Amino acid sequence: MHVIIEVGYLLATISFILGLKFMSSPKKAKTGNLIAAIGMILAVVLTFFAGYTGTVPYINLVIMLVAIVIGTVVGKRFSDKVEMTGMPQLVSLFNATGGGCAMLLGMIEANPNHPSPAILTMQILLIAGLITGAIAFTGSIIAERKLAGKVKDYRTIGVVLTARILLALMILLPVLYFVGVIPVSFAVFVYFLAFLAMVYGVLFVLPIGGADMPVVISLLNSITGIATAFTGLVYGNKVMIAGGIFVGAAGIFLTLLMCKAMNRSLMKVLAGKFKKSTGIVSDEEQEIKEISVAETALSLSFAQKVAVVPGYGLAVAQAQHVCAQLQQILEKRNCEVDYIIHPVAGRMPGHMNVLLAEANVDYSRLKEMDEGNEVMSQYDVVLVIGANDVVNPAAENNPDSPVYGMPIIRAHEAKQVVVMKRGRSKGYAGVENDLFEMDNCSILFGDAKVSLQEIVNQLKLI
Ligand code: NDP
Repeated sequence: MHVIIEVGYLLATISFILGLKFMSSPKKAKTGNLIAAIGMILAVVLTFFAGYTGTVPYINLVIMLVAIVIGTVVGKRFSDKVEMTGMPQLVSLFNATGGGCAMLLGMIEANPNHPSPAILTMQILLIAGLITGAIAFTGSIIAERKLAGKVKDYRTIGVVLTARILLALMILLPVLYFVGVIPVSFAVFVYFLAFLAMVYGVLFVLPIGGADMPVVISLLNSITGIATAFTGLVYGNKVMIAGGIFVGAAGIFLTLLMCKAMNRSLMKVLAGKFKKSTGIVSDEEQEIKEISVAETALSLSFAQKVAVVPGYGLAVAQAQHVCAQLQQILEKRNCEVDYIIHPVAGRMPGHMNVLLAEANVDYSRLKEMDEGNEVMSQYDVVLVIGANDVVNPAAENNPDSPVYGMPIIRAHEAKQVVVMKRGRSKGYAGVENDLFEMDNCSILFGDAKVSLQEIVNQLKLI
């Protein structure tokens, strides 16, 4: 049985590697996800039998089975029910459960009624897994609430200072405990650390603003992986160590990519350093020009080169299919159509790529931000579909803006810009968009899917 379990764990680990490899290509990503999911099922089943062969009491196996059934049913229900726009929140929630598991496992292992790990190395690993897990747990819950728009950024010097003090305590207290200065039982000490780490997770994410949220989300992802790897070391469970390391490493790479995309240093994000925003949100209504569906269709009918800049609103409207339809119609008219993708457009890394892949948009039509910016002046029309922050010139021109320093898609450099949005609400960062007032920009008000469908209908008549 032992050999079967070890071989199974190896197969599960290989499936994670293959899954990651396949996910680097949009065409193979679905298959990669499936392979990794099968590997994870294998790992869960084998872990169950690993317990079965040991000295685990019968009742524990029953509890494990019940937990697996509840987890499967709840996970399936959540995934079935979630709207495409709710995916980023769901991913954050799943991340929170991973962190919460690592924290709970640490607490269980430290329980006085449980054979506690007496070896110092094990105790250090347990504490490391518990602290990182607890931070990922509460941090991801706050991130989920922020993505859902239920919790606003809360930045005060008090919050930032308290977070830093907590961080220092979480490093210092274990050292003091192990040199024998703190005379409490290991279990009590561990519970206290879990409490501190949970509070830190909340205070760490609470002040982080729009432009830094993508960095924090990928960082929390990575922290969950690291917590899992630490906990795997405590249990000596190879597949848990491997899975944790994959998530941790992939998360760190993604975090660094996000930092680069947002022109932010990771240290500044971690230290909670923010620019002071000086009254960027004005009560005065912006002076904007409206454009009609017919006028937009007419402009497009004369255009030879069109760029689509998709944003979060494309996901809200579920307009990806009709957008692909518009692309085909324009291409039939010998118009070249490109999609320019900002790395943090939408609400999760790769959000726009996933949407466009769903509509079978050819990957060769997608341009990265820098590539698109280089040729921006050549586009006759840029259609900004439900994007806002990622095309805001204030990020380049206004040092007082909270988005200042974030690289943007320079849609304003095109000959004509049409922005599709429903009303006058702001983007995720909550700031006015200077693009909307520019001479070459007009707004086509309405739901993006409805507007695009009407444009398609008009183009068929022209
Ligand atoms: P924004 O959130 O800046 O803007 C979305 C726009 O879509 C709004 O102007 C909204 O205006 C419009 N919109 C919403 N629904 C519809 C609809 N049905 N039809 C037409 N328009 C619609 O999106 P961006 O993609 O430009 O920017 C992403 C932002 O999210 C950045 O600030 C980024 O930092 C942040 N973020 C990104 C994450 C990531 O990993 N990608 C994670 C967390 C945050 P209106 O309501 O008036 O229609």
